[in-house]
Amino acid sequence: MEGSAAAPLRTRVCIIGSGPAAHTAAIYAARAELKPVLFEGWMANDIAAGGQLTTTTDVENFPGFPTGIMGIDLMDNCRAQSVRFGTNILSETVTEVDFSARPFRVTSDSTTVLADTVVVATGAVARRLYFSGSDTYWNRGISACAVCDGAAPIFRNKPIAVIGGGDSAMEEGNFLTKYGSQVYIIHRRNTFRASKIMQARALSNPKIQVVWDSEVVEAYGGAGGGPLAGVKVKNLVTGEVSDLQVSGLFFAIGHEPATKFLNGQLELHADGYVATKPGSTHTSVEGVFAAGDVQDKKYRQAITAAGSGCMAALDAEHYLQEVGAQVGKSD
Ligand code: FAD
Ligand code: NDP
Repeated sequence: MEGSAAAPLRTRVCIIGSGPAAHTAAIYAARAELKPVLFEGWMANDIAAGGQLTTTTDVENFPGFPTGIMGIDLMDNCRAQSVRFGTNILSETVTEVDFSARPFRVTSDSTTVLADTVVVATGAVARRLYFSGSDTYWNRGISACAVCDGAAPIFRNKPIAVIGGGDSAMEEGNFLTKYGSQVYIIHRRNTFRASKIMQARALSNPKIQVVWDSEVVEAYGGAGGGPLAGVKVKNLVTGEVSDLQVSGLFFAIGHEPATKFLNGQLELHADGYVATKPGSTHTSVEGVFAAGDVQDKKYRQAITAAGSGCMAALDAEHYLQEVGAQVGKSD
């Protein structure tokens, strides 16, 4: 689709994304009277506006909520706080950016925004694995989101497997024990990288069994073209392939930063994360800042994303002061 016939919006700060990083940047920029425009996306990368926390249940480690808060409620609150201070939120996905000229140009299917500064806070998306049958049984027993799909009737009181050894695998394994008769966590090594508390919860759950040093090599269905009925699992130490009859298989193997729409205009690390100058949110283009999981391959937490969103807004404000572009417009 061609760009909108409508005149471009003009702003001092354009924020791309809708997770804790984007909304924290928006709150700070709006309170600094920079009148930010925020693209929250429309199922961008198959995730609802609000980001990764919309795919989980309880968030227990975000300060300020001693009894925890549902991920979706936390993100609704963040959005409401952005709106309260005057952020202009567009429910559109950014498809293209042009950082080669100033003001920067940020474009969705229906809107173009011209911005003095841009904060990239598009987060990350769940990774998938590909093996024989993985496409055939995708959404027919195979998923990358236990919280979204775990309660489906096809998994009720049936054995289920989760692949991964990080916090997501532990959390999803525990969560799935509510529905499945048994949950196998299949991990390619013999130690987990998950935090100790999450490991302990999974390992002490009587419905969880760990399949160490192993990878799934095939998924197969039931007779007559039915959904997933099992997987073939290869032990990476012995080479032995065994059969695991499961009705569900959930990938919990990490995430990929959402940087494709940048089309090479920012310097990225080899694994696709936006490169930022140490201790700041400055990217390789002056006036463009990055915050949250899109630039963080180490911590990847809601609170660290929020913290770097704050840094991005402050960095943008300082930059605008330095270049004397404070007398801008936002409508
Ligand atoms: P994200 O949350 O990744 O959100 C970015 C969003 O921006 C995208 O989802 C999309 O909606 C939007 N977007 C993307 N591309 C575009 C585009 N081109 N145009 C417009 N919009 C776009 N962390 C914790 O601290 N505690 C937890 O308990 C916890 N539980 C988790 C459970 C699960 C299952 C997962 C997957 C993660 C969990 N995390 C948790 C990690 C936490 O969710 C992330 O660290 C955090 O959400 C990252 O925030 P972010 O702002 O970088 O972006
Ligand atoms: P991680 O990157 O931490 O872990 C990914 C896991 O998947 C690793 O164990 C990795 O194995 C495995 N893996 C990666 N690629 C493959 C592959 N091709 N085949 C098989 N296995 C593979 O991702 P998570 O999603 O678990 O966590 C992301 C971030 O979100 C972390 O910072 C985590 O702390 C946070 N989070 C926090 C939660 C909480 O605090 N409640 C809940 C969920 C996530 P290997 O270990 O061998 O590399």
